[in-house]
Amino acid sequence: MNVVRFKNRELSPSKIVCVGRNYAEHAKELGNEIPSEMVLFLKPNSAISNTLISFHDEPLHYELEIAFLVEQGLYSGLGLGIDLTKRELQSRLKKSGLPWERAKAFNQSAIFTRFIDVPSDPKIIETFHFTLHIDGQLAQHGHVSNMLFKPDQILEECGSFVSLEDGDIIMTGTPKGVGVINKGSCFAAHLYQADKLVLEMEWLAQ
Ligand code: ZN
Repeated sequence: MNVVRFKNRELSPSKIVCVGRNYAEHAKELGNEIPSEMVLFLKPNSAISNTLISFHDEPLHYELEIAFLVEQGLYSGLGLGIDLTKRELQSRLKKSGLPWERAKAFNQSAIFTRFIDVPSDPKIIETFHFTLHIDGQLAQHGHVSNMLFKPDQILEECGSFVSLEDGDIIMTGTPKGVGVINKGSCFAAHLYQADKLVLEMEWLAQ
């Protein structure tokens, strides 16, 4: 089983529950309607990797997202993850009304930073925001306050749909600015609580 790091522990998520279209401007950039019901899909443990790959049957796209670790039914850790996507295939599947797994749940389709303790106060969680710079250029900037469905709603909805095991991860959707991953590009992710930098990570696209 693949693992993620939470402080000095390693956890093996049994699954990753992902929210789609959780930022209005990202839904618009892909020509999707703003959902009235949460869009959810799964990635299995086998999707977890430490390597940012740029190609898997077709060029891959990045989506940087806030990721929560779940333990004992509650959020315990907070980090960032990239939801790697086969956009061309996903568009074909969407058009045909078919499931997205082939475009979203393939090997190496989920990479994560380490995780830090999650604040217990939802008001503090609302102050988190994150950026993605690619080769020094700002590509994405997401703010929890701009999510259509907030982290506590997401946890409740996911829990009503599947049992969340200790170590499972919830990915909360991506803001606008998604695009293709070019081999050799440097991806730098930063997570802030208000003005304070709390987590940073760099990946070189392979
Ligand atoms: Zn996503």
